[in-house]
Amino acid sequence: MARMSKENVGRFFAALAAERPDPTTELDYINPYTLLVAVVLSAQATDVSVNKATAELFKAVDTPAKMIAYGEPKLRDAIKTIGLYRTKAANVIRLSEILAQKHGGAVPANREALEELPGVGRKTANVVLNVAFGQPTIAVDTHIFRLANRTGLAPGKDPRAVEEALEAVVPEQYLRHAHHWLILHGRYVCTARNPKCAACVVRDLCLYEAKTTADVPAAANASPARRPSNKDRVSSARATGRRAPRRARRRGATSRGGTAR
Ligand code: SF4
Repeated sequence: MARMSKENVGRFFAALAAERPDPTTELDYINPYTLLVAVVLSAQATDVSVNKATAELFKAVDTPAKMIAYGEPKLRDAIKTIGLYRTKAANVIRLSEILAQKHGGAVPANREALEELPGVGRKTANVVLNVAFGQPTIAVDTHIFRLANRTGLAPGKDPRAVEEALEAVVPEQYLRHAHHWLILHGRYVCTARNPKCAACVVRDLCLYEAKTTADVPAAANASPARRPSNKDRVSSARATGRRAPRRARRRGATSRGGTAR
């Protein structure tokens, strides 16, 4: 898989930074605790659907103690429009109890403590550490996974590999906001189907074979010299969200690669 040069990675983030100088999460929250709850609720759900459910909830409940008093049945009812709401309600109540018992009602600013909470995995911990505590973490969601592989920015077979690849290549001055620049670009421009290449500010740097190249200078379209194998095509298709050619799927698919969440 083609990999973007270090110099072009810097140009890539400079372009995204110029486009969105002050990026942030699209989840609504009041404090680190409500951010944590919103991120837990957002697993396999859209930010819009979470914001609709939490708009009223967070007016009444903005601390672990209030959430425990609110109780699981009322919480279930408040978030019933969100997928997996029963499991999520149970996790939110339980994590609130742990925060109250072990952390004095505060959200801990370290990964190990966060990942001990029910419903909190590495991705959720990274979002909280980045947004609430300003740490330069990168939470690889489905958009970042696709974008990093598709563009050649930081190819990797699973979210953890992409996270580590990004941490290795993103220039230090862009690390703090890299997460949001990539998510927002993946959500609104470099979409899974029909990416909006004509409106893309990093189009001249992107190495995606299928990008729209009509107006791109020829020099920016340098492609890898090696002709891709069928296995390469199948792996590439999985990582970028495209469908591999039928012949490649038949001959090249010998193992299942990692998938984005
Ligand atoms: S040029 Fe197209 S494929 Fe490449 S990053 Fe931009 S939108 Fe995505």
